[in-house]
Amino acid sequence: MKIVNKVRQMQVLSDKFKKEGKKIAFVPTMGYFHKGHLSLMERGRELADILVISIFVNPIQFGPGEDFMEYPRDLERDLSLAEGVGVDVVFIPEAEEMYPPDYQTYLEVTGLTQHLCGLSRPGHFRGVTTVVAKLFNIVKPDIALFGLKDYQQYIVIKRMVRDLNYDIEVVGCPIIREEDGLAMSSRNTYLTPEQRKSALCLYQGIKLAERLVREGQRDAKIIIKEVIDYIESKPYTQIDYVKICHPETLDDLEYLNDKALLALAVRVGKARLIDNTILEVR
Ligand code: AMP
Repeated sequence: MKIVNKVRQMQVLSDKFKKEGKKIAFVPTMGYFHKGHLSLMERGRELADILVISIFVNPIQFGPGEDFMEYPRDLERDLSLAEGVGVDVVFIPEAEEMYPPDYQTYLEVTGLTQHLCGLSRPGHFRGVTTVVAKLFNIVKPDIALFGLKDYQQYIVIKRMVRDLNYDIEVVGCPIIREEDGLAMSSRNTYLTPEQRKSALCLYQGIKLAERLVREGQRDAKIIIKEVIDYIESKPYTQIDYVKICHPETLDDLEYLNDKALLALAVRVGKARLIDNTILEVR
């Protein structure tokens, strides 16, 4: 497994793979790996000849007062896990090279970012699309893999790829959960044992909504109210949003017919946790 720190070195390496006719799969990450990250890498391993991952805690996607400084990091452990799933190249850029002091260019998907996390984290998606566009130009992948855990991020990236004609296939991978249902996240490490119990309310809220839909409920307001009441009954929780929206446009839905995205963001202690599911009306 090769470790690359310099932008130019990564570009030269990718050019070499391409000249050899090799297909490159790419998994961008912020590190502190769990099984969610590893599932993306395993899928990438299956889909291409060369598997490149990046580890970069991207400063420009964190807002003031967010957890950039505390974000968990453990490079040694990450490298050994990456090696275990057969990663070929780990790109670990330096912040100073990614964003030199005279850096001036940002990329923004407009409509889709005016919903959900885009409203509570202004500038977040601008930071994400900017870094992902830069990484695409550096790694030059044929395939890029993203987790559906960050559903809005996934569709924002798909839109960026479509709108800017990137010749890259964007693959969404299922949410990997702990045994009890909590979606895996590097931010789960912020939870105390008591908060960890409360954190299950996101998954339980999803299960509650799914049951209501199964029982025939179609009114989004009623489903949302039930989920909110459930989450609010748990200690340490503070809801950022609970929304039912169109899975492609992210516009709020009043009534469910066909498929709807249920998306939640809840603060539990100092961790801001997100989860989602597609509610299907049969
Ligand atoms: P991060 O390091 O948190 O930026 O995540 C890197 C990639 O892993 C993103 O595409 C995430 O959506 C994905 N990911 C994070 N957690 C999970 C999970 N529990 N299941 C599936 N994918 C995940």
